Amino acid sequence: MQIKTILNRVQKFKSFVYGTVELVEGTSVPTLEVELQPRLNSRPICSGCGHKRSGYDRSPERLFEFIPMWGHKVFFRYAPRRVDCPGCGVRVERMPWVSGKHRLTEAYVWFLSGWAKRLSWKEVAEAFRTTWDHVFCSVERAVSWGREHQGLTGIEAIGIDEIQWQRGHRYLTLVYQIDSNCKRLLWIGKKRKVKTLLGFFCWFGQQRTKELRYICSDMWKPYLKVIKKKAGQAIHILDRFHIMTHLSKAIDEVRAQETQELKEKGYEPILTKSRWLLLKRPENLTDNQETRLSELLQYNLRSIRSYLLKEEFQLFWQYVSPHWAGKFLDKWCTKTMRSKIEPMKKVAKMLRRHRPLLLN
Ligand SMILES: [Zn+2]
Repeated sequence: MQIKTILNRVQKFKSFVYGTVELVEGTSVPTLEVELQPRLNSRPICSGCGHKRSGYDRSPERLFEFIPMWGHKVFFRYAPRRVDCPGCGVRVERMPWVSGKHRLTEAYVWFLSGWAKRLSWKEVAEAFRTTWDHVFCSVERAVSWGREHQGLTGIEAIGIDEIQWQRGHRYLTLVYQIDSNCKRLLWIGKKRKVKTLLGFFCWFGQQRTKELRYICSDMWKPYLKVIKKKAGQAIHILDRFHIMTHLSKAIDEVRAQETQELKEKGYEPILTKSRWLLLKRPENLTDNQETRLSELLQYNLRSIRSYLLKEEFQLFWQYVSPHWAGKFLDKWCTKTMRSKIEPMKKVAKMLRRHRPLLLN
């Protein structure tokens, strides 16, 4: 059987045929190039108006990335025809495997964005040996397709999240629909500023915003500000994952500081390798790690005390009644404020400030 046969099963085009399939030499990842040709006597379609027009000339060959197979990257190689259209002028033809000026085929876009629902974007990029940007671009295209083809009525709950770009302090803001019957990514915005989220609400529209009942987000100030202003009627929930992240970060900071101090005083560096022990949940520790943790706990160090405070805070999530949860929160904050551990105090202060939101 030939590769062409498989391709024709996976994706068959009415007016194009697959030509030769070549193994490209000298690439870091094994690569296949599949030639595409217009079917004999077929007329190109103008990408501007969608009508069949007569050909004008051909532009140079271009590569379009397709779904990888058997560890090989797969590219379509095609020299697009240009049409002479009375309405649109000289235009490149429409190619059914790709939209606009993109280099990724539609099939590959759906493939990547499908995996991006199950794995982190970084993991998808690594698994399929592509770049983070390609994954991002695919998700963005899938999201905009979804917006055009699925209604936005009946959205009652949204979640707002931020993710960091691969390198540096650049962020994206993601807004999800999180209703029990429908979970999907609704919107992606660059950065995580007030303006970013305002952009979402502007796109989402006043009427739909009024119908929101629940909003879930991080304690990031610009988000809080915008949500309060734009969707004050919705119940705003600060989510557990984000809060625990703040605590973990505080512990990290305490530990780093303390390690430095101990080193200066000439103590053995017991904390340098303990980072993961302190951040892991106890039930996830291996036996060996557990022994080390209990050794570590014998020292009355600030890191350890922070760790215990964090563990204690886990109880907060078990309260059903807001009244008792509130009591617990107040007690925990007071205790933490008395601990004299600055980074932990910072978290406690933050939690105090957002008490009503937390109790939601
Ligand atoms: Zn046209």
